Amino acid sequence: MYLCNLFVLNMKNIKSAIDIFLQNTDNKLLTALNSCVHCNLCCTSCHFYKASPKLNYSPSKKVDVVASVYRKYGTFTGKFFPQLVHAKALDEKTIREMTDLLFGSCTLCGRCATHCSVGVDIPFVVKTGRRMLAAMGYVPDSLKQSIQNTLTTGNNMALTEEDFVDTVEWMQEESQDEMGTDFTIPIDKLDCDYFYTLNPREVKFYPLSIAAVAKIFYAAHAKWTLSTQKYDITNYGYFSGDNKITGEIAAKIYDEVTHLKAKTLVLGECGHGSRTLRWEAPNILKQKPDFEILTMLELIAHLLKSGKIKVNPIDNNKVYTIHDPCNISRNGGLFDIFRFVVKSIVKNVVEMTPTGIDNFCCGGGGGLLAMGEYNDRRILAGKMKADQIRATGANVVITTCHNCIDQLVQLNHTYDLHIEVKSVAEIVADVL
Ligand code: SF4
Ligand code: SF4
Repeated sequence: MYLCNLFVLNMKNIKSAIDIFLQNTDNKLLTALNSCVHCNLCCTSCHFYKASPKLNYSPSKKVDVVASVYRKYGTFTGKFFPQLVHAKALDEKTIREMTDLLFGSCTLCGRCATHCSVGVDIPFVVKTGRRMLAAMGYVPDSLKQSIQNTLTTGNNMALTEEDFVDTVEWMQEESQDEMGTDFTIPIDKLDCDYFYTLNPREVKFYPLSIAAVAKIFYAAHAKWTLSTQKYDITNYGYFSGDNKITGEIAAKIYDEVTHLKAKTLVLGECGHGSRTLRWEAPNILKQKPDFEILTMLELIAHLLKSGKIKVNPIDNNKVYTIHDPCNISRNGGLFDIFRFVVKSIVKNVVEMTPTGIDNFCCGGGGGLLAMGEYNDRRILAGKMKADQIRATGANVVITTCHNCIDQLVQLNHTYDLHIEVKSVAEIVADVL
């Protein structure tokens, strides 16, 4: 991965990386880079460190590597007396260290930032470091490939239009046996109330979750549509640190909502995709979309509260627990709405410890799931989550992110948890 990229390490690349600092250095970044007091209280917040307690995996180490590069290029002492302030030049050794720490040892979950003794926004620093690496061309190849797939085919898995349409039609036919022949899964319809996005993993591996969402819209008598070309909610540009590509991918979804004249963009069950389309892209594009944006979780809560869908909560002898995706609960503020929905559909819920905004990341966030280079480390870092689930005695884990679902399915297999993993829409569709 590194060697094939080394030829691009020239002064021009280094300059663009340094410009990320020098042109974008505001109070927020400077504060984050200069505030760490090396107390190491954040270590035990991080699932990477807890799974493998080496100082290299501590959140402060990730801040330190970025701050040391800043000192080299952004401060007088760092420029002329680097050893006095532990300043690091952007050379091959530093780039290897940054890549390993910032791409391979952080899921951008944000848990450490809520525990830091002085409030350092650690994931913000990690993202800044990833932006520098992206400016030099040092994005892991697997992540680059996912981005390339999105830019060329419209989805990160490079599924064909035929794959998508066949899967949707198959789910429509299967569901008609249960729901009646007027049940449809609409594609490319104009003037709908809801434009729905989904994760291409659903098309490839979890088509029943598409059928589940369609059943909810059908039960609510909602006018909704999917798009053949622009259905992918994911945005691996966000993980790469390349803001230009992040904005470009998001803008295509926004344009499609406008093109199909939909009133509301409904974000499918994907944590980082929701975060990107709702919060990050409008900032990057400096443009507020002129339609409403809601997560599927919020829409379900609205449909339940307004009585547009009615459910009979599951009351069986299974134990259910909730996994909070970091970008939905801690970073997205939807913790209470998640509880409202789950407790409306399931009686026997046991919370993990800790939970909600303090919940541990599943280990698959931050793009790690797409970066095969770090598979072993990702599964090891997921042990915290596996232990949390086991302690609840749960038979079923409910979550609202398809990246988390993939990671939890792999943790189930590796750590023998004997659980089912379900999306919120799947459980709601079961109890309609
Ligand atoms: S953001 Fe999450 S993964 Fe990254 S250093 Fe902090 S706790 Fe660890
Ligand atoms: S808790 Fe905050 S101040 Fe302490 S080492 Fe971690 S990042 Fe630095």
